[in-house]
Order: sequence, then C-alpha cells, then structure tokens
Amino acid sequence: MKPFLSFENVSFAYHNLKGETQAIQNLSFQIEEGEFVAIVGPSGCGKSTLLSLISGLFEPEEGSIIFRTENSRPTVGYMLQRDHLFPWRTIWSNCMLGLEIQHSKTKDKIAYAEYLMKEYNLWEVRNKKPNELSGGMRQRAALIRTLVLNPDLFLLDEPFSALDFQTRIEVSEDIAIIIRNSVKTVVLITHDIQEAISLSDRVIVLSNRPAKVVREIPIKLTCTDKSVLATRTAPEFNDYFNLIWEDLKGKEETT
Ligand code: ADP
Ligand code: MG
Repeated sequence: MKPFLSFENVSFAYHNLKGETQAIQNLSFQIEEGEFVAIVGPSGCGKSTLLSLISGLFEPEEGSIIFRTENSRPTVGYMLQRDHLFPWRTIWSNCMLGLEIQHSKTKDKIAYAEYLMKEYNLWEVRNKKPNELSGGMRQRAALIRTLVLNPDLFLLDEPFSALDFQTRIEVSEDIAIIIRNSVKTVVLITHDIQEAISLSDRVIVLSNRPAKVVREIPIKLTCTDKSVLATRTAPEFNDYFNLIWEDLKGKEETT
C-alpha cells in the first residue's frame, strides 16, 4: 500500500525584499498511516515550514508531496505552542469554535465534544474562561477543540515548549494518551530529544537549514510501562538519545 504521506525531493524557499531563505532542500521522507512520528532538528532549520507544506498552506517549489488519498488532502488538525483560546469565550464555547467555523455543529459532533471533555476532565470547568485554568488544562482544551473536527492527520508544532518542566511532562503524557486514542496519524515537531523518544514510534532527525533528513530511527522501547517518565528509564533510551544528540550537536542556527 502507498504511504499515507510522502515528501519527494521537496524544496521550498521564502522570498522577500531582503532576498531568499532556502528553508527546505531536496527533502524526502514518508509517513505511514497510524504512525506517530517525531521530527527533531535545530531551531530555524525549517520544521514549521515543513508542517505548512503538509497542511497545504505552502506549495513546494520543487518536488512533490503525495498523499495516499490522491485527489484530496487529508483533513489536518494543528496544535501550536500557544493555545490560542479566545479569553472572552468559555472553555465549552472555545471547543465549539472549529465546528462553528466549519458550519458542522451537528448533534453527533456536539456529543463527541461532550464525551472528550468528560473523558479528559474538562467537563467540570466547561463554563469557566481560559484564564481561570492552568496551562495544562488550557492545552487540553485547545487539543479537544481540534479533535472534535476529527482530523485524519494531527500536526503538533512544539506544543509543550512554553510550559515549565514539570507541567511539560504531565501535559505531554496526557496529550499523548488523548491523541493516541483519538487520531491515527501524528507528526510532532519538537527540539526536545527526550520528548521525541518517549512519545513517538519513529524519529526523523533533520540537518541545519536547508533541512535534509540526517537520520531516521524507529523507536522500540522494551519497557512495559509506556508513560513518559518510565520510557526515560528504558534500557534503550540512552542509546537513542546519544545518537540524536550527536546528530544535532552544535547545529543551532546562530543568526
Ligand atoms: P523552525 O521551525 O525549524 O525553527 P522555520 O521553518 O520556522 O524553522 O524557518 C526556517 C527558516 O526560514 C528560518 O531561517 C526562518 O528565519 C525562515 N523563515 C521562516 N518564515 C519566514 C518568512 N515568512 N519569511 C522569510 N523567512 C522565513
Ligand atoms: Mg518552528
């Protein structure tokens, strides 16, 4: 069967008055349906650009992006670093926003939103405003707002990087569970190597800008407890970590 998504020699540059920034050059990789793929790379290497290409915001200048559903793009859910909840709307009405925009607020979808909010402990706070909630709860609300749209593909762009360390571990744990239960195919962008190893089935390591694939590592952890903290003590964890660390060492963009 064809892969869910395939980048074939994709290049993309930003053009503006100051000149040209080649963000991605000759990038090829594939994602299978049902995979949870983490993409790591130095900051500024082109990771967010890559997600914009997947979601169709930008078109490749060279090469092509091929989806298994040839004539239509999969529907895409996005989760970003900031939760982008509207402060004047309640948590419930924030979660309804996507459905309202899509004019698809059906009984079934409302029932699904209710189910998700109950399942993930937001039901009790549904009439509160975002600023009355903790950062972790707000991220969950932002996630549910996207999940009710039932996307085929979920894209996360460094969604935990604004959180402090402890919240980050808790939230990434929560969110990974919710996503694994609700969405099939996931692409997580992160520059946290540990997060990538703990959460994903496969890590794609990118080079400095323009981004190319340096390494692809299928993650197979032998621990039975798959929680974020437990995976970090799995015997294979350090080998994966060191491999990726060596690839990324000294590669942050300095400009
Ligand atoms: P990452 O997400 O890996 O940090 P980005 O994909 O955001 O990197 O950006 C890749 C490169 O393209 C960076 O050098 C960045 O400065 C540049 N870039 C990003 N967006 C624009 C834009 N709208 N116009 C010009 N250059 C941009
Ligand atoms: Mg980025």
